[in-house]
Amino acid sequence: METIVVKFGGSSLADAGQFRKVADIIKADDRRRFVVASAPGKRSDSDTKVTDLLYRCYDQAVAGGDYGSVLEQIKARFSDIISELGVDFALDSEIDVIRRHLSAEPSRDYMASRGEYLNSKILAAYLGFPFYDAAPLIRFAADGTFDEEQTNANLSAVLAMVECAVVPGFYGATEDGAVHTFSRGGSDVTGSLVARAINATVYENWTDVSGMLFTDPRIVSNPQTIEYITYRELRELSYMGASVLHEDAVFPVRKAGIPINIRNTNCPADKGTMIVAALPKEFRMRTVTGIAGRKGFTSILLEKSSMNSEVGFGAKMLGVLAKHGVSFEHCPTGIDTMSVVVSSEQFEEHRAAVLDDLNEVLQPESIVVESSLAMIAIVGHGMVAARGSAARIFRAVADAGINIRMIDQGSSELNIILGVDENDFEEAIRSIYREFR
Ligand code: ASP
Repeated sequence: METIVVKFGGSSLADAGQFRKVADIIKADDRRRFVVASAPGKRSDSDTKVTDLLYRCYDQAVAGGDYGSVLEQIKARFSDIISELGVDFALDSEIDVIRRHLSAEPSRDYMASRGEYLNSKILAAYLGFPFYDAAPLIRFAADGTFDEEQTNANLSAVLAMVECAVVPGFYGATEDGAVHTFSRGGSDVTGSLVARAINATVYENWTDVSGMLFTDPRIVSNPQTIEYITYRELRELSYMGASVLHEDAVFPVRKAGIPINIRNTNCPADKGTMIVAALPKEFRMRTVTGIAGRKGFTSILLEKSSMNSEVGFGAKMLGVLAKHGVSFEHCPTGIDTMSVVVSSEQFEEHRAAVLDDLNEVLQPESIVVESSLAMIAIVGHGMVAARGSAARIFRAVADAGINIRMIDQGSSELNIILGVDENDFEEAIRSIYREFR
């Protein structure tokens, strides 16, 4: 039987009106039987997410302050939803449990998790679905590392026995029951884990946008939505700043070959973006799937005659960076030159020590440091087959009067990365977009 796992983000469950939309979406397709819910998000730009209120409440409790009014604010968020939906829910006793926890030895992760816990319980009551707490299912080791295989075994064993369920996102627990959360936005990961465990047909991730956009809408107005994207392309774009899902949400479903469909709770008729292992045959592949980029990079260029015959030069150079905890992003090389592109933030912290060490260990003739670099990734499997894609990119950028300071073609031909001056970043993206839209 086909089964769909649906995960609803905070904005999709921010108030009673949103709960109704969620229930309609679930009822519209009887394959949607497993639901993962986030905590109530913002109802407007000036609103505060319940998770942030919970962190605030915890901070005030440990500082010995009066957390009462924040806790009341949290309670009000839930009681508004409960009363408007008319569900039968013992909120007072749930809040009492939290209050008792706060007055004993509060745990930050436990507090943060209560948004998902309560919202999922309320949603389960509203839908008439059973609620399964994530704490005994999603397993973290005592040192806080996530145990995916144990989690998969737990989830499969329990969820295989039930018709439908609501599971809270974002948290799990160690074996002794101490609640532990993923990093922020982690309900996406829970959804992916549930999808893997029940071998879902598709993992639908419902949010407030109709899919992933071709590029950043703050730079290009109204870019089109990406219809299909592979996991690998998504990884490249996400790494370069395109954010649509929690980074770790891809791994569990990718392993199981389950597609992710990004959907919009406020426009359920939109098809959204499908994230897949391989593009369907009937899909006319575009040359470029998406463009993303980030500012804040520095290039360190070393020059040394006969560098090419010095075995281990590259290893030593990267070793110096590693010693200072600076990770490298790209490493374009020439015959007697080698450069590494690093995050400016990481580099600036260790600048003097890194440069001293590079001079001492490698004895180069010169070291040139250029900061204010922006990197732009142009990503698409279609570029492998389409001759002249690189030429089109360079021409578009050149025609815009922009100087390219670095070029790196990923070894898979899946992406071409350009380095440009930070001041040229937006215009470079716009010019490439115009060429490939
Ligand atoms: N509520 C958590 C957060 O705000 C987790 C999530 O929504 O995915 O980060």
